[in-house]
Amino acid sequence: MQTQKPHKNEFIALVAAGGAGTRLGAAQPKQFLSLGGRSLLARVCGSLAQVDNIAEIVVIHPPGQQPQGLSLNMPLTFITGGATRTASVQNGLAYAKAHGYHWVLIHDAARPFTRPQLFNQVMAQAREHGAAIAAWPSSDTVKRAGAEGFVAATLAREHIWLAQTPQAFKLAPLMDALAKAPRGLSFTDEAGLLEHLGHKVKLVAAARGNFKITTSEDWQMAKELCAWPRIGLGFDVHALTPGRGLILAGVEVPYHLGLAGHSDADVLTHALMDALLSAAGLGDIGRHFPDSDQAYAGISSLSLLRKVLALLTGEGFKPVQVNAVLMAQAPKIAPYVEAMRANWATALALPLSLVNIAATTTEKLGFIGQGQGMAAQAQAMLQEI
Ligand code: MG
Repeated sequence: MQTQKPHKNEFIALVAAGGAGTRLGAAQPKQFLSLGGRSLLARVCGSLAQVDNIAEIVVIHPPGQQPQGLSLNMPLTFITGGATRTASVQNGLAYAKAHGYHWVLIHDAARPFTRPQLFNQVMAQAREHGAAIAAWPSSDTVKRAGAEGFVAATLAREHIWLAQTPQAFKLAPLMDALAKAPRGLSFTDEAGLLEHLGHKVKLVAAARGNFKITTSEDWQMAKELCAWPRIGLGFDVHALTPGRGLILAGVEVPYHLGLAGHSDADVLTHALMDALLSAAGLGDIGRHFPDSDQAYAGISSLSLLRKVLALLTGEGFKPVQVNAVLMAQAPKIAPYVEAMRANWATALALPLSLVNIAATTTEKLGFIGQGQGMAAQAQAMLQEI
């Protein structure tokens, strides 16, 4: 929450996230759906948080559906929206006025690809002209439709701009316009209302990529734009010691030494879990399963691997391929590799061919070559579910 009065040049950013998003046919409003591991709303707020001169971000959400888990290193406020987009934005404007703002930026939560630069351009033009909106100069010829699907007119393309958000305004004239708006008149955007009352609104050329996700076709296009795989890398080392079993990828390998550690010290599975967690941006196993926690004493690392998979699923990811290399001077692990791969494949619900484990010695060099310990390196590739 804003604790001091905003500077007179600072903007408040209103994120219109109050819609039910029913046209996509999903179980929840589209602004809460995950795209490449982050919700549309998180993407929009993350982008706004990179813009200078925005003092506070206000998310206007549907009644009873305050977004969870959204955190920014700047003031973030949640307010409840109304029955229509206009009513929701009015709630936001009332908040802006009550908190002493002079400038407001309005943006749709369903436009996840807006660049910070476009916010800056629209805000700069609003400062100069009082009101500015992002719009896309049409590259298609526009026809006005008449009766029964026939063309009534061809419009001059150079004058056609398709309105988007962000839209930025000086607050006082916009509040005035809202107060004077004829009852029952509805506008799809706030700029439309100002135009209706004779105010000038400056157009700022935006890219086609700043599209709003409305239909399932838009959603598909957005998913394809975010469909790059996520790669993670993990590395681990454990010392060899007498009196413990040698557990590698869940298989007990016969040897006179075992690996020392808090859990079963399965060095391969530890490297793999770090690779999976880092690919999802979830940190490492030390964060999720600290060795100060007695719950993990002697625990099977395969059971932790299943917990890691649940964490990934919660973030909207699934593993699609994992690879690892064990660095050990002895014993020979070739006879056990198939069983190790099968353990991982089962835990991660992957086909065996996408789970690979290699092994190497270090030519008797270093702590591994001297038989003091083992190391493992792993790589994981994730995709959005
Ligand atoms: Mg370890």
